[in-house]
Amino acid sequence: MKLQLTERSHGCPDTDETQTSVRIGISIYTNQVYKICFTIAPKWYTLKGVREWIRLFVSWLREVVTPKIKAFVGDRSSSVKDNAWRLCPGCEKTVPTEELAENMMVCGYCSHHFLLPIKSRLGAIFDGGLYDDVGTARVVDDPLKFRDNRKYVDRLKDARQKTGQRDAAMIATGNIHTRRAVVFAVNFAFMGGSMGLSFGKTFIKAVETATNNNIPLIGITASGGARMQEGIFSLMQMPATVAALIKLKTHRLPYINVFTNPTTGGVLASFSMLGDIHIAEPGALIGFAGPKVIEKTLKHRLPDGFQRSEFLREHGMIDIIVHRHKMAEKIGIILDYLG
Ligand SMILES: [Zn+2]
Repeated sequence: MKLQLTERSHGCPDTDETQTSVRIGISIYTNQVYKICFTIAPKWYTLKGVREWIRLFVSWLREVVTPKIKAFVGDRSSSVKDNAWRLCPGCEKTVPTEELAENMMVCGYCSHHFLLPIKSRLGAIFDGGLYDDVGTARVVDDPLKFRDNRKYVDRLKDARQKTGQRDAAMIATGNIHTRRAVVFAVNFAFMGGSMGLSFGKTFIKAVETATNNNIPLIGITASGGARMQEGIFSLMQMPATVAALIKLKTHRLPYINVFTNPTTGGVLASFSMLGDIHIAEPGALIGFAGPKVIEKTLKHRLPDGFQRSEFLREHGMIDIIVHRHKMAEKIGIILDYLG
């Protein structure tokens, strides 16, 4: 990174006063150069003027430069993550990525369950790794024409390019231990598995697939909650998915939810908690608000393991905790029991 600062004096065409232009440029060694120019008039040669100038400069650094640097550093660190080794948060051992992938992204030392790519998960659940992709529901991409420091449509475009999916949720049908079922699966890699219009409508489509074929529905969730860029449309998916599940119940079809790390926010507070059976992977974070938020609100230290699968099983919110290697087998047994 290089900081350039040049100063020159010139006459103002309006007031004939001499003004000083200060050009500040920060070059970052990417393919872009960011520059800003302030004009400082003589009246600004006061303490107030200097303060205002500093405020503008700091604001520019915070809002323009810092996000670009983070994006640049983030790209570099993500490429490091994609490398040959992963640090296990469970045992703090460095594990070869290839070894993890062969073991369904489960640490061979401590059984920590890493995030499993959605295609690998579906491949592991269905018999012979064979399933049909039913496709997501088609909806308007950006109903609110939302933008923060980036346009929402651009974020969507990036997520689609990164994952090869249209949105966070997908539907697959196939056999699980010879029992035909519909799986509604959420890809956390797609904008944190957030629930927007497409997510909600896809869940409704999954329910319709189940009722049309008279087969059970299995949800596999991993989500940060509602998609903030879709505002109220996102929140409306909570009652919409619950209403869809009621329709499933009227057909007397079972719904099993598999909680993977993390399942939080609006996804937890809607359809996922309405399963006939709740299965969780070991150590998964499952909760509405994060433990840090709750701790700050209550001003009270939370018990160890709060909102983790094991804690929730002890308190009745989760029925069974199943190791990823045994997931297909357990779901098959449950489907047999539920008929
Ligand atoms: Zn480990």
